[in-house]
Formats: sequence, structure tokens, C-alpha cells
Amino acid sequence: MIEIGQLLEELDWIPRPKLLALRRLGIETVDDLLTHYPRRHEDRHQFPHFPHEESDVPICLCGEVVKTSVRRFGGWKKIFEITLEESSANALSAPLICRWFNLHYVQKMIATGQRLVVFGKPRLRGKRICMDHPEFEVIEDDAEMSIHFRRITPIYPATEGLSQRVLRSMIYRLLNELSDKPLETLLPSELANGERRAALRGIHFPESWEARDAASEHLVLSEFFAMQMVIAARRSKASIRSGESHCGNGILLEKFLGALSFELTRAQSKVISEVRRDLAASHPMNRLLQGDVGSGKTVVAIAAMLLAIEAGYQAAFMAPTQILAEQHYAVLRRWLEPLGICIALRTGARQEDNAPLPLFGQTNGATQITVGTHALLYENVSFSNLGLVVIDEQHKFGVAQRARLTDREPAPDVLVMTATPIPRTLTMTVYGDLDVSIIDEMPRNRGKIVTAVRDSSKLPDVLMFLREQLEARRQLYVIYPLIDESEKLNVKAAAAEFELWRERLQPFRCELLHGRIPAQEKQDIMERFRRGEANALISTTVIEVGVDVPNATVMLVENAERFGLSQLHQLRGRIGRGEHKSYCILLTSDESPETVAKLAVLEKTNNGFDVAEADWDLRGPGDLLGTAQSGLPALKIGDLRKDAQLMRRAREAAMSIFADDPRLEQPENQRFRHLIVEKQGRNFANVS
Ligand code: ADP
Ligand code: MG
Repeated sequence: MIEIGQLLEELDWIPRPKLLALRRLGIETVDDLLTHYPRRHEDRHQFPHFPHEESDVPICLCGEVVKTSVRRFGGWKKIFEITLEESSANALSAPLICRWFNLHYVQKMIATGQRLVVFGKPRLRGKRICMDHPEFEVIEDDAEMSIHFRRITPIYPATEGLSQRVLRSMIYRLLNELSDKPLETLLPSELANGERRAALRGIHFPESWEARDAASEHLVLSEFFAMQMVIAARRSKASIRSGESHCGNGILLEKFLGALSFELTRAQSKVISEVRRDLAASHPMNRLLQGDVGSGKTVVAIAAMLLAIEAGYQAAFMAPTQILAEQHYAVLRRWLEPLGICIALRTGARQEDNAPLPLFGQTNGATQITVGTHALLYENVSFSNLGLVVIDEQHKFGVAQRARLTDREPAPDVLVMTATPIPRTLTMTVYGDLDVSIIDEMPRNRGKIVTAVRDSSKLPDVLMFLREQLEARRQLYVIYPLIDESEKLNVKAAAAEFELWRERLQPFRCELLHGRIPAQEKQDIMERFRRGEANALISTTVIEVGVDVPNATVMLVENAERFGLSQLHQLRGRIGRGEHKSYCILLTSDESPETVAKLAVLEKTNNGFDVAEADWDLRGPGDLLGTAQSGLPALKIGDLRKDAQLMRRAREAAMSIFADDPRLEQPENQRFRHLIVEKQGRNFANVS
């Protein structure tokens, strides 16, 4: 009898070399191997007739090898070609040609007279129907025939040193010899349909397609539920920390809003009231504010800080870059000093306190808002009475950094903001331990943004357009393609780029901005640009986040294909901030279908959530988060996109368990504690 937790090396029927190959896949226990799930299944009850036409859908065929040959091409390269004949061939059947290029090992595995199952897309090549590089399996007429054929057969992720056949046989045997002890089902009863053992059997060797789907649902739910339990546990832990109410009566906020030159959007007002409710509650706020670039998150942050200040607390406002921190500092001083608020700046490069003024609700002249970069975390910035932490562009900070500022007793309220919209299913996961507010509306009287993709050869026309805009007194960003600034920015190359642009845009004034320019100088450059003393800013992506110059309405991105969709969307958010119509021109000479599809998304929509969804579609489930939200555990079976509905159910179940039992103390919940929170807590440590 085999136990689920047993090590595979204790099973003497698994040969050593196979153990090593398994270990390379991270498979060491029986459980690991049983959760090495098939990538797809083939119905091997009955095979279709050989096709006479092409197909874009891969198909599974079975036949006998009647001929093999090797041809050379281009010197040393080889094509291995076989002719497959349908087992029950008739006068109308056409043979199928299968070809492999430069795959020496295939040639050694296939011989005339064998029967073969192949899987691939049939293509017409001349008059022949061919499959290039099909997946294949040689049929061996032995006792194990019934494991591999005449059933819905599992096909596993390929791996070196483990054939489909070997893997399938091992898993078959494990399932048959597994002890009858009940396998603990992770799922609470309202989610579980059936039982884990049946699900494992059903995913590997299903009796029917329906059985396969039911098994898959059970296992996906288990996986998602485990993930959501970890997230819910973290959320619960945060919310039972001791906190205080940090909310004044709102007079200061009224004054601030009254002095603004614009009305809040409905979305902004809604979010402010959500934040206000959290601030007033005695448990700590952990809220994420998602809002597209330019949607006006800063005003919300200020509102929150004013409420906290009015209650006598200090607020910290952390931004990811020097430029942004300086910009926030300037905005805050402009808006809040008239209200008598005392603001300080703390960055690696600069520290500044404005002169103590007569203070609202305070007598000792202490700083009420500290704006800063990472320096807020590391230098000896002391907060005597920190009530609220606002983190802008939070995806630029790690979880640990956030914790440094917020892990104090009593817990401050925390508002994190991001302009990187992500699909809702991902929000439940990546930001699953936070409450989420969304600003889904742009301020009115914003000029439209028109986005156009242009071939690099059209640069002269584009230049003409740029000059027209500059003559109309609009300002211009040129983003040049030095994507990774850590990639040792060649200052000379930047200077050359700059010279080029200065000539092109004569007589307009250009400035150069890149990551290697010292902070103070960067700041001065931005300031001159903001004041309109420079007409064009030639820049790398350092202007990516948060920069706000309403008169800059034109952006040209060179080599646009090199940027990711969300990054381009972020960049584009620098324009369209004033009343004038804005133009984003994406220049590229790349005509690949991927680039065309990617850039077309931006032409089509300005909505960040739509861009995020499209990005997800184009990149597929493999690379769904990019680097910004890394730290999600690799899922073994669930697909965040396809199985979104299951994620929702898993989340509701996990949340309701913690709602009733925040510390997981009830006897019936102990199994979750052991199975999930403790066992998997580490794997999920980086989520959110
Ligand atoms: P983001 O959400 O990208 O951080 P900001 O907070 O920088 O956006 O706001 C972008 C610009 O819009 C700023 O100049 C801000 O003053 C302005 N703004 C914010 N809210 C409104 C509003 N309701 N109506 C008009 N302009 C607004
Ligand atoms: Mg911002």
C-alpha cells in the first residue's frame, strides 16, 4: 500500500534514473507525482480518418509506419520523414507524412512496422498532407496496452528522461496501489463536489470527458481555495491588529475642497467616503486605490491625509522616485500651506521642512505631512504620531518595504495607490488581502487622446506634425528607447540622441532627461519644462509615473515595439492632462503580427482596464503578470483567466471562514490551519 505523503524513492519499482528525472521537476513524493497534472487528454477510443485537408486545430491520429527516410538540407541539417498509413485504410485514404527537422533522437525511436499515435496540425505541402513536428507515441502491444489506449489518455508536460508512457504507467500504478485511507479534501463542503481521491483519478484517467471536467473543477477549486485561505489569513491578521480611529470631523477637508478649482468626479467622492469610513473605524485600514493615470488619485490621498491631520495625527506620503516626491511636495505646498499645514520633504537627495506656520489643530509646530521616497523607510525619519501612510504607485515597492513603514503599534491606516490597472480576477489574487477602491472615471473637460502607430519611415511627416504642435505652443515628450536604465546608460548615446532631436526640432528648446542625471538637476529640468521654458523633453522612461504637465499634449515614442503594453499606456498617461486634444504617436519599424496586435490595442482604447485585459489576452496565461506583480505562486492546474469564476467561489468561501473565525480557532477549522496556512504560507509569502 502506498501512502500519499510517501517519498517516491521508497518505492523500489521506480528506477533510479527516473527518480532523478522526477526530481528535476520538483517531484519527490507520491502527492507531488499525483499532482503532476496532464496538460491535455487524447480520446484514444477511436481515431478519426486521415484528413484530406489542412486544419488549424491539432488532431490526434493513429496509423502504421510504412516508410522512413532521412534527407539532408543546407549541409549538415537533416529532415527525418515517415509515411503513416491509416490502420483501416481504404481506397480513399491518403497517407500522412510526418516530418521532424534536426531532431536526431526521433529517428532513433521510430521504425517501419510500428504503430504510432500522432498529434499535430495537418498541413498541405504540395499534394501531400504533412504534420511537422507532431507529438507522437509508439504503440507497444503489451500488458500495459489498456493503460495507454482505448481510453481518454492523459498527456503530460514533456520532460527529458521521462516518456509519456513511463510517466503514465507510474501514475497509473500509484493510483491503483494508493492506500484506502481517506485523502483529506481541502475544500469546505459547500465547494466540494465529490472527493479528492476521485478527482485525482478523474484527472489522470477519466471515464468520460464530463468526469474529466468535474475532476478538474474539484482540483482547481482546491488550489484556488488554498491560495485564497492564505490571502484571507493575511488579511484577517492585518485587520485584527490594534488600531485607532484617525478621522477628524472634516472641516479642514471641506476647506480644501472648497478652494479647489475643480469639482471632484463622482468616483473621487465615492472613494473619499470609502476611505473616510475606514479612517474612522478603529481597526486599521488596508486599502488599495486603483485608478488610471490622470484619474486624480492625489486629491483622494490629500483628503485622507487632511482627515488624519485633523484628528491630530501625522501622515506619510511615499512615492517611488525623486521626481514624483518633489512633484507631490510642490502640489501639497501649493494646496495645503494656505490651510496652515506643515509639510516636510525627505528624499535621499534632499530634505526640507517648510517654516512652521500657525497650525490647524496643533500647537507645537511639528511636521504634519512628510513626503518622501524610500528614504522615508531607511533614514531616521521619526514619526511621533503616525496615523496614515499613503503609498503612491505601490507596485514599485516590495511587500517588505511597505511593512517597514506600516508594521508599528498601534497600526497606522494604510492607503496604497496604483495606476496599473489589472483584470479583476487578478485583483482578487494579487491584491487579495486589501480592500479595493476604484476610480473608474476621468475628470471632465480633459482633451481627448488620439493614438496613432506610424512606421519609422514616416518620421519626416511626423516631424512636420510635431512642429505644428510646438508652434501652437503645445509641449512635447519624446521617449527614446533606452528601456532599462540600469543597463548602464551610455551617457554619450543619450547625448547623441539629444543632439539629433535638437536639430530636428530647431528652433524649439529641448531638454534631455535620463536616469543618470543627478536628482537636483532632474528636478530643475522638470521644473523648466513645467513652466514652459522648454518646449520638448527628450527622455527615457523616467517620466513614466505620475508626472503632470497639462500643456504637454504630444508624445512620440520611438521603437514602441520594445515597450510592454501597460508601460506604453502609463507613458501615454503623461499627456491628455489638460483641456487640449493630445496626440500619442508610436513609432516602429517592426511589422511582426505580435507588435501590430499590441500597438493596435492602444489605438483602440484609452481605458487602462481594457488595456490590461488585452495585455493579458495577448501574453496568455504563461506570463500574465510581468514583473510588477511577481510573487504569485505557480499554479499547477488552475488558470486565473479561464477559471475566474472558480476563483471567485474559492475567495468567497475563504473569506467567510475568516469572517466567522478570524483567528482560525474553531475546531472544525483546524484542518485549514494545518493544511493551508502553515504548510503553504511560505509559498505564498510574496502575494500582494
Ligand atoms: P493620478 O491619478 O494619475 O495620480 P493626479 O492626481 O496627478 O492623477 O491628477 C491629474 C491631474 O488632474 C492633476 O492636475 C489634478 O489636479 C487634476 N484633477 C484631479 N481631479 C480632478 C477633477 N475632479 N477635475 C479636474 N481636474 C482634476
Ligand atoms: Mg499620481
